[in-house]
Amino acid sequence: MAQKPKVAFYWCASCGGCEEAVVDLAEGILDVVAAVDIVFWPVALDFKVPDVEALPDGSIAASFINGAVRLSEQEDMVRLLRRKSKYVIAFGSCSHLGGIPGLANLWDRRSIFEWYYHKAPSVANGGAQEPQERVEVPEGTLELPAFWDVVKALDEVIDVDYYLPGCPPTPKLIGNAVNALLKGELPPKGAVLAGTRALCHECPLNETKPEKLLIKEVKRVHLTKVDPEKCLLSQGVLCLGPVTRGGCEALCVKGAMPCTGCFGPTDEVRDQGAKGISYLSSILDFDEEADIRRVMENIPDPVGTFYRYALPRAILTKPKGVKSHA
Ligand code: SF4
Ligand code: SF4
Repeated sequence: MAQKPKVAFYWCASCGGCEEAVVDLAEGILDVVAAVDIVFWPVALDFKVPDVEALPDGSIAASFINGAVRLSEQEDMVRLLRRKSKYVIAFGSCSHLGGIPGLANLWDRRSIFEWYYHKAPSVANGGAQEPQERVEVPEGTLELPAFWDVVKALDEVIDVDYYLPGCPPTPKLIGNAVNALLKGELPPKGAVLAGTRALCHECPLNETKPEKLLIKEVKRVHLTKVDPEKCLLSQGVLCLGPVTRGGCEALCVKGAMPCTGCFGPTDEVRDQGAKGISYLSSILDFDEEADIRRVMENIPDPVGTFYRYALPRAILTKPKGVKSHA
């Protein structure tokens, strides 16, 4: 009997939502389990790292890796999986673009440790200690992974074959990717396995979006009673649909919530946040500085708004000495 293709799942700096997304395949997961041989999935199965090390190089058909890379352990694991796998798929926004954990790149390692282990009000030991990579105790040496200075997207560490975007990717996109893999119908290397056009093109509210959209104010969604039948951006709610890759079928907008950009930019765009800021500037219907200040008051966290999922990919923010992702 022909051997089933081997598949691995792994998580790095992740909230666990991407693992949930695999389980969200519901009964579809039974088809996946029937069609593949899962050889590593720390959240669900009891395989160990030596089990993966013992596999021949290139013998795993595909590794789906979610989460950003922050720790030496994560870096070691993704390098191991790269060596063992024919295809590596960056699974979810954190792996694809750095994601929410990537917002930590606003600070470096030292300032993060300074706050969390010395100055935060919840610190109960007087700020006297912080985690060490090696500690000698009577029983031997205890080791913790090294905490790198920056959070990286997966392809800043290893070669990535495909990207499954989303926070998390939708079950439909995951199912499509697994089917394409099983049938050998994968697109060219480097493809993002989702839409190619901006989300607005598949949004059910697109026909209510004026051809020439201009707004005079930006409203915060939780303080606004939105009309769910009308383009949210035309109501002043900052929806990033015009600058975000489609493929999610506008799930958030269908729930009367604006798109926050988790599918990342389209192929033509290099810096998602810069594109979002540029797009907003182009639709604000005034020139006075006082008006601009008034609008910015309703965007209290511009970095978290425009770079929520892609700060590690921003062109401008790499700390000194860290290679910019091209
Ligand atoms: S992409 Fe979203 S759901 Fe997946 S690990 Fe990152 S934050 Fe969690
Ligand atoms: S801006 Fe948002 S609500 Fe409006 S059409 Fe685009 S995705 Fe839909």
